[in-house]
Amino acid sequence: MHRFLALRLRHTMIKDQQGRGLTDLRISLTDRCNLRCTYCMPKEVFGADYVFLRKNEWLRFSELDELVAAFVQLGVRKIRLTGGEPLLRPGLAKYIHGLKHIHKVEDIAMTTNGLRLAERVGELKEAGLDRVTVSLDALDPEIAGKMNGRGVAPRAVLAGIAAAQHEGFQVKVNMVVERGVNDGEILPMARYFKQRGISLRFIEFMDVGNHNGWKMERVVSGREILETIQREFPVEPVDISSSQEVAKRYRYRDGSAEFGLITSVTQPFCGGCTRARISADGKLYTCLFASTGLDLKQIMRAPNYDKAQLYDQLAGHWGARKDRYSEQRTQGIQSKDKVEMSYIGG
Ligand code: SAM
Ligand code: SF4
Ligand code: SF4
Repeated sequence: MHRFLALRLRHTMIKDQQGRGLTDLRISLTDRCNLRCTYCMPKEVFGADYVFLRKNEWLRFSELDELVAAFVQLGVRKIRLTGGEPLLRPGLAKYIHGLKHIHKVEDIAMTTNGLRLAERVGELKEAGLDRVTVSLDALDPEIAGKMNGRGVAPRAVLAGIAAAQHEGFQVKVNMVVERGVNDGEILPMARYFKQRGISLRFIEFMDVGNHNGWKMERVVSGREILETIQREFPVEPVDISSSQEVAKRYRYRDGSAEFGLITSVTQPFCGGCTRARISADGKLYTCLFASTGLDLKQIMRAPNYDKAQLYDQLAGHWGARKDRYSEQRTQGIQSKDKVEMSYIGG
């Protein structure tokens, strides 16, 4: 092939089998966590004898940088650091600083449980982190403690959110809503974050992993959540037709804040899913509900590894992608032996 054409192709956005591009990369920095949320890492399963990845199994930061540089060539512009709990990965701020300098990386976000956030916001801001999403499921200490599996009251998380906002971060809050558990917290959470101008995103309880006892009856639909909020506040939809967003966005009519609904179960958005995910040990997953991933660490540590071929391997993998699990679920097809959310990152 003519070299110019090859180069042009290399910088043309790759498309999968459903015509979906690749714009977002989620990197899980560890599969460990200091909480045991019932819907993610139930403590009965992730107990003292659970075997987590050993540190020497993690991808090194230098390897991650090499991967990110290749993903950027495929179209990725946004990176989200996640886990497990990303704040538990040693050297995080230094890593973010390096990531910031990779050509064409436009946005670095992190999803965290916020427990250790207050003491870290300064170094994270300085390192170049752009945005923070904090997960919190209830303001009520008893409900929050039950859901996080460790009896941890929300005080430290709320302090982390306030500190991040004070540091100048754009902060969002994720709340997983489970029927009969924290659906009574929808309005208290909405009021609290509305007052502080923070975007709260309500996430439908998903059947990720194999251990969270998911049942459709326990899913509170986005529509129900919206009706609950509308009982107290006038709201209007935000036009997101031109963006890649998966959340349905609304704003309170008084202009105080926005909120979002992530309706992965009742109104799946596989058609717009442009995300790839890398586990802490370097497996590439093209769906949150996949069972297997492409072992990038094995590729990169092979004696005959050729850096120049990494792009082609990633492009080939994305080009073959057909995933649309959430759409199939609505047609009654259920996946077995799924990867765990804490391993792959949300
Ligand atoms: N530990 C960090 C945290 O909790 O923010 C990052 C990793 S966590 C796996 C990422 C996101 O996935 C969190 O917002 C969490 O609430 C969400 N999540 C985990 N399990 C879920 C489930 N079964 N359904 C919906 N969201 C879930
Ligand atoms: Fe940990 Fe996040 Fe999973 Fe909760 S949702 S157990 S904080 S990884
Ligand atoms: Fe993307 Fe898979 Fe979720 Fe569909 S089910 S939106 S393909 S991660």
